[in-house]
Amino acid sequence: MKIYMETQKCLIIGSGPAGYTAAIYAARADLKPVLYEGMEPGGQLTTTTEVENFPGYPNGIDGPQMMEDLKNQAVRFGTDARWGMVSEIDTDSRPFKVKIDDGTELLAETVIIATGATARYLGLESEEKFKGGGVSACATCDGFFYKGKAVAVIGGGDTAAEEATYLANLASKVYMVHRRDELRASKAMANRVLNTPNIEMLWDSEVKEVVGVEQGFTKALNGAIIRNKKTGEARKIDIEGFFVAIGHKPNTELFKGKLDMDETGYLITKPDSTATNVPGIFAAGDVQDKHFRQAITAAGTGCMAAIEAERFLGEQ
Ligand code: NDP
Repeated sequence: MKIYMETQKCLIIGSGPAGYTAAIYAARADLKPVLYEGMEPGGQLTTTTEVENFPGYPNGIDGPQMMEDLKNQAVRFGTDARWGMVSEIDTDSRPFKVKIDDGTELLAETVIIATGATARYLGLESEEKFKGGGVSACATCDGFFYKGKAVAVIGGGDTAAEEATYLANLASKVYMVHRRDELRASKAMANRVLNTPNIEMLWDSEVKEVVGVEQGFTKALNGAIIRNKKTGEARKIDIEGFFVAIGHKPNTELFKGKLDMDETGYLITKPDSTATNVPGIFAAGDVQDKHFRQAITAAGTGCMAAIEAERFLGEQ
């Protein structure tokens, strides 16, 4: 039989608000959690500039700073935060056998999955260049900076519809750029978009390029080149914000065929709980939430997961 050097009570995978909040609670419950930070330590918030909607920061806080604070808080109570990625997990029997990409192998009595989701972008070079300087994938996070300005939302699903109507309350004008002539969004959401006077639909349209000026480290987007696929005509729209809403991809590759997921790959948790279909494995944050996707909701479910892991261990 294989001998494992480590058996941990609570393994947390992921280092966004869900992972670190789970770690704070698990550490304070004396579970001595081990947290693997993953590919993007700090998660999606490290790609944001200012976070203004997380309660408790009246003057806002930089995304990366907030994640550093959360990490320090988790470590202060005894979380063992490690650099590395979980590369394999065996969910067939408990304790769960886990492999890390640096060769470490360990056993975990409970696992909290907080691997998040990754926003999808169009993949244009110019889009990449203006990330954090006008290009965003979150209207709730960054919309406020475009008060009274013109912006574009790319996509035709529920997220795009929601972002467009949210932005229409702040921005002077919203162009909604969709690649087809019909929205994918639900009827109710689509109707809201179509009945909002300052949203202009650009149907059958694709983005060729995002344009703006760059001076040193300062970047300011001032437009996008949109091509109508039916007529072939391209034109520039004058915008300062460019919101990509073409979907997210939950980071769940590792759990395919092992944990229950919906058709888009989000982990399924039991109602009012973070429990997955495998007893002892919990999921928190964006990896199981396609609706809210906020730092505060991720933190909330991280807290739930730690409390549920503690209760689970207590019942064993
Ligand atoms: P969806 O996959 O539903 O929609 C993505 C949209 O982006 C589609 O309109 C799609 O076009 C377009 N798109 C995809 N790839 C590209 C590309 N490369 N270039 C241009 N356009 C592209 O994602 P959502 O994030 O909108 O929604 C995900 C899930 O979450 C859905 O089930 C949705 O119903 C749900 N949701 C529910 C909400 C609610 O109930 N309040 C709020 C937000 C999401 P096309 O239509 O041509 O495929």
